[in-house]
Amino acid sequence: MTDKLAWIDEELNTLKETGFYNNIPTMDSPQGPSVIINGKQVLNFCANNYLGLANHPRLVQAASEAMQKFGIGPGAVRSIAGTLSLHVQLEKRMAAFKRVEDAITFQSGFTANGATIPALVGKEDVIFSDELNHASIIDGSRLSGAKILRFKHADVEDFERVVMEAQGTYRRGLMITDGVFSMDGDYAPLDKLVEVSKKYDLMTMVDDAHGEGVLGEGGRGIVDHFKLHGQVDVEVGTFSKAFGVVGGVVAGNAKIVEWLRQRGRPFLFSSAVTVPDVAACLASVDLLEESTELVDRLWTNARFFQEEMRKLGFDTGHTQTPITPVMLGDVQLAREFSRKLFEEGIFAGALGFPTVPKGKARIRVMISAAHSQDHLEQALDAFERVGKQLGKGG
Ligand SMILES: *Cc1c(COP(=O)(O)O)cnc(C)c1O
Repeated sequence: MTDKLAWIDEELNTLKETGFYNNIPTMDSPQGPSVIINGKQVLNFCANNYLGLANHPRLVQAASEAMQKFGIGPGAVRSIAGTLSLHVQLEKRMAAFKRVEDAITFQSGFTANGATIPALVGKEDVIFSDELNHASIIDGSRLSGAKILRFKHADVEDFERVVMEAQGTYRRGLMITDGVFSMDGDYAPLDKLVEVSKKYDLMTMVDDAHGEGVLGEGGRGIVDHFKLHGQVDVEVGTFSKAFGVVGGVVAGNAKIVEWLRQRGRPFLFSSAVTVPDVAACLASVDLLEESTELVDRLWTNARFFQEEMRKLGFDTGHTQTPITPVMLGDVQLAREFSRKLFEEGIFAGALGFPTVPKGKARIRVMISAAHSQDHLEQALDAFERVGKQLGKGG
């Protein structure tokens, strides 16, 4: 008898032979600046935990208190019996935080894209999409059945060229871009993209997963950074990065949010996040609204680290945010560099093709407000030592 799943062995072997097999690190400690990975205590420069909220005592306390009052599971999809007052409260708080009309929450940022895009466009429509948009935007776009037209990364002129060429070929048009691009740490020229979109009557959508808690006043995100409140129809966000929890959110135009309550498929056919999640998200919003201290510290840490890395002779690409790519070029070199850093007690991952273009392999260093000055200096020392060993840096 032949093994009908033998093809999986072959595929997995190919991944291993070509170096694309994912060895998944396991953490045996709370998420924080110092963690235990594969049994070893290391400083964590891999997480999206920008503000150190993933293990914040206020979030833990809020989650425990809510569980005493509401239990754990939502018990049904949102539209039937699974909407708790906590969910509604979080949506009101997010709309206010983002300074927009309304908001709706989802199970994840990934799901928020899968819910929103097919609700806005279909077969007769067109999506204008930055070529480096996140996988969840790409999947949501495919799911919609709309024609997908790509424009060059963060290139407003190319965007307008693509829009002009498509004139007269579609019913509705939707411009979609990531806010912050997570591989390079640069952000979309959202003001200019919105300007062109207005000229051609396009709906506008930004996925601000890496911008929330980072950009804008007190971490209100990219729309706030550019002061575009009310001009971007859909702002997708996640609670899994700076907010330190899990869940997705769509904030923006009230009409669109209402439409998603009626037609967002993951909202209608999949249960919501649990009680402790929602309560912890509410505590995150509280913390962000009370003080800009964590966001300020994130930026102070990022500026310090990036300046010192440049002084050491490392190329940090064209980042505009705390995401710090350390460009190494060759993928084997990047992997070796990451392995040696780990031996030195620094956890920072290597990224290679197909995650980033060929020949642009790098280590990506994720800076957090939770890092102390000492943590940052330990990382800099490790980069300097490993750089000398491998002939990189100054
Ligand atoms: C991380 C990320 C997501 C997915 O968010 P989750 O809440 O973890 O599902 C979606 N879009 C972008 C741009 C992201 O960076």
